[in-house]
Amino acid sequence: MTNEDAKVIPVRVALRCRPLVPKEINEGCQCCLTFVPGEPQVIVGTEKAFTYDYVFDPTAEQEEVFNTAVSSLLNGLFKGYHATVLAYGQTGSGKTFSMGGTYTSAQENDPSVGVIPRVIQRIFKERESRTDCEFSLAVSYLEIYNEDILDLLCASKDKPSLSIREDPKEGIKIVGLTEKQVFSAYEMVGCLELGNSARTVGSTAMNAASSRSHAIFTITLEQRRGTDKVDSVVSKLHLVDLAGSERQKKTKAEGDRLKEGISINRGLLSLGNVISALGDESKKNAFVPYRDSKLTRLLQDSLGGNSHTLMIACISPADSNMEETINTLRYC
Ligand code: ADP
Ligand code: MG
Repeated sequence: MTNEDAKVIPVRVALRCRPLVPKEINEGCQCCLTFVPGEPQVIVGTEKAFTYDYVFDPTAEQEEVFNTAVSSLLNGLFKGYHATVLAYGQTGSGKTFSMGGTYTSAQENDPSVGVIPRVIQRIFKERESRTDCEFSLAVSYLEIYNEDILDLLCASKDKPSLSIREDPKEGIKIVGLTEKQVFSAYEMVGCLELGNSARTVGSTAMNAASSRSHAIFTITLEQRRGTDKVDSVVSKLHLVDLAGSERQKKTKAEGDRLKEGISINRGLLSLGNVISALGDESKKNAFVPYRDSKLTRLLQDSLGGNSHTLMIACISPADSNMEETINTLRYC
């Protein structure tokens, strides 16, 4: 057992600050953050300092984020550990950019692609290089919208809301969810594209294309070892683009949209509670409140235990977003 295996750190947090976007520059926004060179630390305004496992300033490229923070989770996945990568932050902070959820197969070799396409590439490279075992791969893609679970790989227009079942052997199962066997990176990217086109998109005053739902792209890897290939290990990787974490007053939400806001916050709130229960050494055997939301129930067997989790906390550097940025820094 290597050191890396011996000490499983349940949750790591990577803070990622995007550059100012053209709209913020046009509006005369200033950067309100200072990054401490060589330290995983960010200072807001002139005083408050926050420290994380990793901090990526606005100059960090996608490749650096992947190599520094994500790659080790994949090493764990190949050893049989479950893993989860979550992107958290207010709408417009860079969650989808970081996860690479908008990737299309036309962008092959584009350095701006995010986590998901890089993960896909790496998994298939690993498969090619391994002669000691066989890989089987399957993907599913779902979204949680108003506490309903919707299958993004289901062709039907009228998608039923799916339910979660706990199987004593297989763990968390979503009844009726499409699990597509894939044999190539190209096919896996095809599933990502198909699911993206099915996502529910709502518009708010803050961001016309803002996503009000959590999207979860799950890769299940089965490795069969031994001469007769009967020795099987299954590990799961969840790649999660969370709904915007902004407080409702800023988005001028009303009616249906406000209802959405409340249920989204329920998922994010219980996720925060689960993660802080896991991260607190003094609460080692304490109760972890997985059952408080669909999001945490669904991720239950991949958060904590022997799983590795990376939270990518996305923030804007603009002074106009400082309040929400501080909320994110405190949450993570
Ligand atoms: P979210 O998914 O959190 O709502 P997006 O990922 O859509 O936010 O990002 C908002 C805008 O900022 C997009 O135009 C995106 O291209 C840009 N952006 C986000 N992160 C970066 C980054 N690290 N570098 C350059 N542009 C970025
Ligand atoms: Mg997004």
